[in-house]
Amino acid sequence: MKCPNCGLLTNSKVIDSRSHNRTVKRTRVCSECSHRWITYEVNKLEYDTPRNKHVYIGWSEGELITLVTLYEKGLKKAHIGRLLGRSRMSVSRQLDKLMASGEYFSLLETIKLKA
Ligand SMILES: [Zn+2]
Repeated sequence: MKCPNCGLLTNSKVIDSRSHNRTVKRTRVCSECSHRWITYEVNKLEYDTPRNKHVYIGWSEGELITLVTLYEKGLKKAHIGRLLGRSRMSVSRQLDKLMASGEYFSLLETIKLKA
């Protein structure tokens, strides 16, 4: 599952699972960044309602940092896309956007400060 913090598709570990209003509520931990988050499991009929037809997962600050880190390491856009569960086009568009706004360089500064 895609971690909402680092954005990587990881083998998140379920540390708690319980029934919640006709769904199953699970607490997960990312194997990469140790972030914890909660998911709610619903059946396909409920998932397939029109409002869920185009599920869009926005880019979190953490995912943008992962994107810039991997790009700086020289990974190809298609490879980064596979790690983040996004298309090569989506990775390419996001990088263009970050470059155009200058945000790319402030993210780079954040990464250097953390290292
Ligand atoms: Zn993570």
